[in-house]
Amino acid sequence: MKHLMNHEKHYITFNNYLKDRFHDKVFRVSLNAGFTCPNRDGLKSTKGCIYCSNKLSGDFAGDVLDDFSTQFKKGVELESHKWQSSTYIAYLQAGTNTYGNVEQLRKIYNEIININKFIKVLSIATRPDCINEEIVNLLKEINEKCEVWIELGFQTMHEATSLFINKCYTNQDFEYAINLLNNAGIKVIVHIINGLPYETKEMMVETAKYLNQFNLFGIKIHMLHVMKDTILGDLYLKEPFKLLSLEEFVEITVEQLRYLNTNIVVHRLTGDAPRDLLIEPIWTLKKFIVLNEIDKYMRKHNYYQGDLC
Ligand code: SF4
Repeated sequence: MKHLMNHEKHYITFNNYLKDRFHDKVFRVSLNAGFTCPNRDGLKSTKGCIYCSNKLSGDFAGDVLDDFSTQFKKGVELESHKWQSSTYIAYLQAGTNTYGNVEQLRKIYNEIININKFIKVLSIATRPDCINEEIVNLLKEINEKCEVWIELGFQTMHEATSLFINKCYTNQDFEYAINLLNNAGIKVIVHIINGLPYETKEMMVETAKYLNQFNLFGIKIHMLHVMKDTILGDLYLKEPFKLLSLEEFVEITVEQLRYLNTNIVVHRLTGDAPRDLLIEPIWTLKKFIVLNEIDKYMRKHNYYQGDLC
């Protein structure tokens, strides 16, 4: 996919991938199926990941009280002033969206892909420990009707950090899930977080190098958001720990990109946090500036995605 890089963007952006693939503006609509999470309901833990909000990381997802068609319609209306589109990705974002029995999941996925014919992709966010053979067989079945992407949380490869953030799954869980999904031909996007407490730049770059050995379709790199009403937020307010500056985030992220193959699409380099809930870092609200700084830094040093791998 090297042809998707250009003078301006030295990495494979999600937008360029979508334009190349669909020749249309593609709009992602976040839906909410009301799933909980094994890291919340007591199966693994009741605390959740320490940065997780009470909306289970789905702060911009639809209203669970609405049916999927209504959620979809409302999501489209919200954005229709920005652009018109006839290509959509339905995104199950909040909670763990493969955490249920197969019959229940089949009904939900089918209902969503049948909302209308303009939904070209069903993107499903989940945890590696909620992927097994039965679920993958179902995903394969759905994938034959509408393309399925699986978004796996991973955050870090480092065990000490994983324990600290109470992630409650291991690298082995991740490897098992990704191999099953790869073998089934399901596209996988992995999420990582930069700036987790006590991680060094080297550790964050190591996580990117580790991921590069798998067959990933995409990656989302987030800066850690410290939000109100989370365990992390309480820890931070009691005893603030060091967070990355914008300059550090840019430097680390660019180095990670340089270790990633050019067949990996960079779905995101910035995250969304509700403004009223974000404690720090405030610079993350200026997404345009963050992306600009990354572009400037790569151009200045003539760095490209994949030039170190
Ligand atoms: S896995 Fe996701 S939904 Fe579950 S606790 Fe962690 S961040 Fe929240």
